[in-house]
Amino acid sequence: MIFTVAIDGPAAAGKGTISKEVAAHFGFAHLDTGLIYRATGARVLAGEDPLAAAQDLRPEDLQRDDLRTGEVAQAASKVAVMADVRAALVAFQKSFARREGGAVLDGRDIGTVICPEAEVKLFVTASDEVRGERRYQELFGKGQDVTREGVLSDLRLRDKRDSEREAAPMKAANDAVVIDTSEMTITEAVEAAVAAVGTVLR
Ligand code: C5P
Repeated sequence: MIFTVAIDGPAAAGKGTISKEVAAHFGFAHLDTGLIYRATGARVLAGEDPLAAAQDLRPEDLQRDDLRTGEVAQAASKVAVMADVRAALVAFQKSFARREGGAVLDGRDIGTVICPEAEVKLFVTASDEVRGERRYQELFGKGQDVTREGVLSDLRLRDKRDSEREAAPMKAANDAVVIDTSEMTITEAVEAAVAAVGTVLR
């Protein structure tokens, strides 16, 4: 069976958890496409050329344990503006989306560019303040040296860059179901996503 669930939305809206849970629920494979951009950004921070890094990306680059920092997130959103970098990363994502057995991909442009034919498209969002607080708790909990104000302003900067860029800007596909998780628990958000997929799969 070929079945794609495209999950897009801004940073820290809950896409990651929702994607993992939806994939586990339906037995689909999951790809966090943000990791691809983070891995490319991390290699650029280490001095590589962005396009060369994207073209040479390897599976082990996605396993690095230093990809979830604010510094790497900003580097990711800077390389993500570059059309040639994005083009180098498209084929892998497209083939993952249409792999046998079902796939969930989360990112910024999955429903609009990578897989406009996805059977289900979700756009997961939440207010800036809620997302800022969630990301602050996540990074602080990992022992990173962060402040609430710093995390919120980094997040806003990244959202702005992601939604205003020319190449594949972050936006909801016209036929996406929007899930605003500001007032939801994670369980409620996952249930809403599973229900949206369930109505199409049935
Ligand atoms: O989802 P995550 O926050 O890990 O993504 C890091 C950055 O990678 C985003 O801010 C965005 O610039 C970029 N990205 C993208 N397209 C995707 C996924 C991520 O441009 N499909």
